[in-house]
Amino acid sequence: MSRNTTSLIKAALTAMHYARADSMLAPLTGGAGVIFTLHHVRPEPPQPFEPNRILKITPDFLDAVLTEVVRGGFDVVALDDVPQRLAGESDAPPFACFTFDDGYRDNRDFALPVFEKHGLPFTVFVPGDFPSGKADLWWLVLEETIRVANKIEISLHGLPRDFRTGSLAEKMHAFHQIYWGLRRIDEDDARMIVAGLASAHGIDGRALADDLLMTWDEIRAMAHHPLVSFGAHTNGHYALAKLPEARARAEIVESIATLSRELGRPCQSFSFPYGDVTAAGEREFRMAADAGASVAVTTRKGLVHARHKDRMTALPRVSLNGDYQDMRFVKVFMSGAPFALRDAVKRLTGAPAAA
Ligand SMILES: [Zn+2]
Repeated sequence: MSRNTTSLIKAALTAMHYARADSMLAPLTGGAGVIFTLHHVRPEPPQPFEPNRILKITPDFLDAVLTEVVRGGFDVVALDDVPQRLAGESDAPPFACFTFDDGYRDNRDFALPVFEKHGLPFTVFVPGDFPSGKADLWWLVLEETIRVANKIEISLHGLPRDFRTGSLAEKMHAFHQIYWGLRRIDEDDARMIVAGLASAHGIDGRALADDLLMTWDEIRAMAHHPLVSFGAHTNGHYALAKLPEARARAEIVESIATLSRELGRPCQSFSFPYGDVTAAGEREFRMAADAGASVAVTTRKGLVHARHKDRMTALPRVSLNGDYQDMRFVKVFMSGAPFALRDAVKRLTGAPAAA
């Protein structure tokens, strides 16, 4: 997303907050619940060049969100309780779930203490390969490479491209061009390109992953905590919709088996890597259900409604985005107003409806 778009959305959200659009629209749009997506929780302030900071919030912001969600009348429930919740009475208070993707160690060090303070549950989705030292955090490796490089030479879609990456503006431009270019090609090829760039610039992707990700021993220890549950997130963290059928199915089935085996208990929840429409669709939603997942979450934006009880492996989420660490935005998102507006615009313009 460009910075201009981000500023525009921020301005619109601020306007909606001050117009009390969130509370006015709430009776029309209030969902059965909301599932929040998080990745990193870390206390340090963002660096000037940190394009992946949208995946990171501070412990203080998380604390404020939990306080607000409880004060707003939401029941914070474990993700595994969502099917039961949707099957229950429609006049029950709305529910909220908190989910973390990828299994970063900061979830234990900085998020868990905040959830403990409030006595609230959360779920962490772990790719089967990540705790075994086989993770490829290529989006962070790309960021680190551009941070140190003054120039990047890359071939995208068979076309050689040179990016100057000396200034902050040049680095931001190069990251967004390269990241989205890579998201459109075969993921194995994309990862090879990033690995080549990293080695050319002396970046050790292995050390970066080891530093950030929990090991199986750490995950097993955390799994004993009564507030914490774990779910699967494929083995290799691939955008499943881009994979051939058999490989996509194996990624889902084997990751659920890996989690169940490593933790010694059945794993029933799943999160689609990247999770947008290009990464997971109807084929993948069916595969997750076939693999025995009782709940699977996307990153398609929206609230969970009663109608989702027949779509339990295609649930939308709301990202707690590092660029929106402002409680006003969270309140507006919780009301469902932005999604109602988006859907209304799509209906008016004839664009395909949101899932
Ligand atoms: Zn992920």
